[in-house]
Amino acid sequence: MTATETLTARLAVVRARITAACERAGRDPAEVTLVAVSKTHPLDSVRDALAAGLTDLGENRAQELVPKAEAAAAAGLAPRWHFIGHLQRNKARDVLPHIAVLHSLDSPSLIAEIERRLPAPARVGAAPRLRCYLEVNVAGEAQKDGVSPDDLASLLSVASASPALEVVGLMTVAPLVPDPEVTRPVFRTLRELARAHGLAGLSMGMTDDFEVAIEEGATAVRVGRAIFGERQN
Ligand SMILES: *Cc1c(COP(=O)(O)O)cnc(C)c1O
Repeated sequence: MTATETLTARLAVVRARITAACERAGRDPAEVTLVAVSKTHPLDSVRDALAAGLTDLGENRAQELVPKAEAAAAAGLAPRWHFIGHLQRNKARDVLPHIAVLHSLDSPSLIAEIERRLPAPARVGAAPRLRCYLEVNVAGEAQKDGVSPDDLASLLSVASASPALEVVGLMTVAPLVPDPEVTRPVFRTLRELARAHGLAGLSMGMTDDFEVAIEEGATAVRVGRAIFGERQN
């Protein structure tokens, strides 16, 4: 098989698994956005992904997103880029022009930086706002990014008041454990937090746990290895 055929075949399997998980949960697969995480994979993989019908691609590092998005644009490829990793304030200026969705908003200081760096029309609310998810460290893991559930309300009030942002929901990265059932309560807690704060979007679920995440209400899953194969570095 060519690389293109391999990607197309893997994508068909992922889509079938998404559909099956939706059926188990009585949900419409159209409610679930598949964000294909292309990190570590070259521009050819971006091309293959778009040819296979994917529209939304995710990257987690500014140093990788920016050159890849520029190269894609130069090649006439226009995926909707999602930034899913921790965004350092000093990288916001470089990243913002390329992305449609930020999954990892995690501090008032990043909000202030985004307001400074977005084009002026966005600052006064005249341009489309940056769609964003607030990242929550549900399991309270020390090494993880994201706000604690206790700090969510105050971050949300700052984000909601920003003319530059449209808060669409919450995001989490579940603990890495072999059994996806162990992560189910994490996803459930994120859903309950979102409901308590009146937010509809839930960005949760990766290669090892996206079906459980969908059963628990995910509206965006971020899937890398199951689509692109093992990471290349
Ligand atoms: C890499 C990454 C993913 C995708 O991980 P896979 O296990 O390859 O599906 C999802 N979300 C975030 C935040 C990531 O960094």
